[in-house]
Amino acid sequence: MEKNTEKKHNFSAGPSILPAPVMQKAAAAVIELDNIGLSLIEISHRSKEFIAIMERAQSLALELTGLTDKGYQALFLQGGASTQFLMTAINLMQSKAGYINTGSWSDKAIKEAKRYGEVIEVASSKADNFNHIPKGYAVPNGLDYLHITTNNTIFGTQFHDLPVTDAPLIADMSSDIFSRNIDYSAFDLFYAGAQKNMGPAGTTLVVVKEDLLDQMNKEVPSMLSYALHADKGSMFNTPPVFPIYTSMLTMEWLKEQGGITAIEQHNQEKAQRIYDEIDRNAAFVGFAAKEDRSFMNATFNLAEGVDGQAFDSLWNAANISGLKGHRSVGGYRASIYNALSMESAELLVNVMQQFEKEL
Ligand SMILES: *Cc1c(COP(=O)(O)O)cnc(C)c1O
Repeated sequence: MEKNTEKKHNFSAGPSILPAPVMQKAAAAVIELDNIGLSLIEISHRSKEFIAIMERAQSLALELTGLTDKGYQALFLQGGASTQFLMTAINLMQSKAGYINTGSWSDKAIKEAKRYGEVIEVASSKADNFNHIPKGYAVPNGLDYLHITTNNTIFGTQFHDLPVTDAPLIADMSSDIFSRNIDYSAFDLFYAGAQKNMGPAGTTLVVVKEDLLDQMNKEVPSMLSYALHADKGSMFNTPPVFPIYTSMLTMEWLKEQGGITAIEQHNQEKAQRIYDEIDRNAAFVGFAAKEDRSFMNATFNLAEGVDGQAFDSLWNAANISGLKGHRSVGGYRASIYNALSMESAELLVNVMQQFEKEL
C-alpha cells in the first residue's frame, strides 16, 4: 500500500488510535475477506463467514473481561454509547434509578433517564468542574439500578474504587474498556462505544448479565430491547459488520499482547511517565485530583502566566496529533489508549521538557 506521509503520534480522545496490524487487516478485509473472493462489506451478515466473526467477537469480549461461562452475554449494537443512555433506562427503570455524575457523559445519561422515571443524583462533582470522583456518599436503597461512568474522557478522571450498592451496577466504559483489570463481574451491565479503545465508530459493545435480561421491562420498542438483541445474537437487523470485524481484530491483538493484565501494566507505565512530567514541569499543572487521575486521558493546563503558543508549535512539529483539551477544561489532553506506544508517550514528555527549557 502506498504511503506518503509519516504516521503521526495520535493522542486523540476519540475516535482514536488503533493498533497498526489491526488497521492493516481491517483494510485488507474491505478488499477481500480471508481469500473468499468477496469483501467483508459485500457479504450477507448471515453468511457463515460473518456469523463466525460475530461469535468470535462476542466470545473474545467475555474472555478478555473474565466473564466466560459466568452468565453474561456480549452484544454488538448500534447508535453509539449515547443510545445506551436511553436503552439502560427504558429497559431497567421501574420507578427510580441512581446516577453518579462525574461529567458531561454522565450528565447526558441522566438527561435521557429522566424521561423514564425518577433520577437520584447520588453524588456529583459538578461544583468543582468535575475535577475529581465523588467520595464519601451513601447509595440509597431501593434503586432500580446505579449508573456510573468508569472513566471520564473529557475531565480525565477515573473510578479506581467501585461504589458499593445492592442495586444492579451499570457502567458506561466507553473510554476505559479493556484497559485495566477491574472486577467486571461487579457489573450487571456495561457498555462501550467502539471508537475509544476497540474499533471504528459504528458499534457499541454491551455486556449484560442474563439474570438482568430476565427482569427487564417488556414493552420496549424492538430496536431498543436488550432482551430481543440478546435473543437474536445481535442479528435482529443488519449489524455494522466493519466495526464489529475491526473490534474483533483489536480484541485478538489484545489477547496476543497478554490480555488485560499486560495492557494494564503498559497503560500504567505510559500514564505514570506523563503524569510525573506534568507534576515536575514548571510550565504545566494537572487538572484532575491526583488520586482520581485517569490512565486513559491525562488532562493538564498551562501554569499561570505561561503562553502556550510555543508549546503548540513544538508538539505539532514533533508530529504529535490530537493533544488539544476539550473546551470545557481547556489546556491539553493526552489520550493514551491501549494502542498508543511508550515511544509516543516519551516523545510527548521530551517536547514538554523542551518547552520548559525555552520559557
Ligand atoms: C465518547 C463517549 C461517549 C459517546 O459515545 P458515542 O458513541 O459518540 O455516543 C459516551 N461516554 C463516554 C464515557 C465517552 O467517552
